[in-house]
Amino acid sequence: MAAAMDLPGSIVLEASDRVGGRAPGSPNLMMFVGTPEQQERHIVDSVAAAVEDWPILTGAEASAATRAFLEESAAVRDRLVDLGLRFDLVTHDPVLRRDRMHATAVGLDSTLFAGLPEDVEVRLQTRATGLLVEDHAVVGVQTDDGAIPAATVVIASGGFVNRPDLVARFTSWAPGTWAVGDDPGAWGDAVDWADAWSLGLAYTDAIGAAADAVGVAGEDGQAVRRVVGGPPPWILVDASGRRFIDETQYWTVTLAGQVHAHAPVWAVTSDVELRDVVDPDLWARVLAGCTCADDWTTLSEAIGVDPEGLLGTLAEIADYSSTRPDPFGRSAVSLPAFTGRPCALPPGLLANKNFGGLDVDPDGRVLDTDGQVVGGLWAVGEAAGMGVPGMGGLWGFDGALSAVVWSGWRTAAAIRAEQGR
Ligand SMILES: Cc1cc2nc3c(=O)[nH]c(=O)nc-3n(C[C@H](O)[C@H](O)[C@H](O)COP(=O)(O)OP(=O)(O)OC[C@H]3O[C@@H](n4cnc5c(N)ncnc54)[C@H](O)[C@@H]3O)c2cc1C
Repeated sequence: MAAAMDLPGSIVLEASDRVGGRAPGSPNLMMFVGTPEQQERHIVDSVAAAVEDWPILTGAEASAATRAFLEESAAVRDRLVDLGLRFDLVTHDPVLRRDRMHATAVGLDSTLFAGLPEDVEVRLQTRATGLLVEDHAVVGVQTDDGAIPAATVVIASGGFVNRPDLVARFTSWAPGTWAVGDDPGAWGDAVDWADAWSLGLAYTDAIGAAADAVGVAGEDGQAVRRVVGGPPPWILVDASGRRFIDETQYWTVTLAGQVHAHAPVWAVTSDVELRDVVDPDLWARVLAGCTCADDWTTLSEAIGVDPEGLLGTLAEIADYSSTRPDPFGRSAVSLPAFTGRPCALPPGLLANKNFGGLDVDPDGRVLDTDGQVVGGLWAVGEAAGMGVPGMGGLWGFDGALSAVVWSGWRTAAAIRAEQGR
């Protein structure tokens, strides 16, 4: 919709019965740099600060595309506000050295929809099923209702993270330690088209995840997902036996990124507390996938974690509960009491969004497998890894909807420039 907003006369094909994609089902967390909301809260932020933070946030240095997005992010925020969007909630990233703000915007999809020019036609329940290609250039799309000729085609079909076959193809995540979501969308059509028409794919292993699954396989082979919300009944420790993050931020890409960064990581819990959040029908399978022991030292040795470190961590936790706050920001009362048999299992990741996808140039032109521009074909949003594959580093960042919108506006401007409009 962002791209169509600046391309009067376009036709938007939408496979489902409503526009907006996965945004309406999300809290619309967005990330901008150097906003009035930050200034009001006396949070010092700048492109330079964000670039410095980027490796901590995403596991990799900011690319040129990332810098372009960061530099233009405040203007994206301003335009959204001009369109009537309001940002009403601000949170802090759990691992950054300095404050970073994300703003929650309720109604991104309806704001963009309202901003579409009158001559943009939206065709609901119309799935693009393939590309029309002539002489290495795209000249339209195929649908179940017939072919639609078009001089310019913008792929905005979203990500692939709800396709277990594609997550398995692109990652080396161990079986049983990850799951995919069940929200509508992220069906991976862009990847299927890449396979069918030799389009380039890049950084497809950069997948943002939540860490709210239990790292053992359920009946379908994917990690069991927690059945009860609220604070997870575990702490996460690395090989030193030390914690590195607030585990209650399990829904953030940042937490999952830190799990990657500190690997191997163990979720340390007790059988009694773990049982409380797992479907009773799956409990026997989950317990069989845990490493449990009669005492913490034996458990540490069984999972290859430094026993002294883990014992020290547990002693500190007992202390936080009674006298002082948890240094990672987790509420002391939400920490596990470890009543029951000591157990550990790998944390389970829930694939949430992809930061790789169709390979595109900095304006969004789709490249083929040889790196050559495919005439007439552009890609935006999650289909192109949130704008340009690789801009989200190794595991992405929270608030990428800002980049989705940015990429739509950026590509529309490039198309207009190319066509002299
Ligand atoms: C529960 C949840 C919470 C999230 N929370 C956040 C958050 O707070 N902040 C954030 O930044 N990100 C969040 N995300 C991720 C974010 O929603 C997506 O990254 C974003 O929506 C991607 O935007 P998009 O327009 O590229 O793709 P999508 O939102 O997936 O939209 C793609 C659209 O294309 C349609 N489509 C697909 N294939 C075809 C086809 N062949 N023909 C026609 N139409 C097609 C789909 O129906 C859909 O409407 C969340 C995701 C989930 C599941």
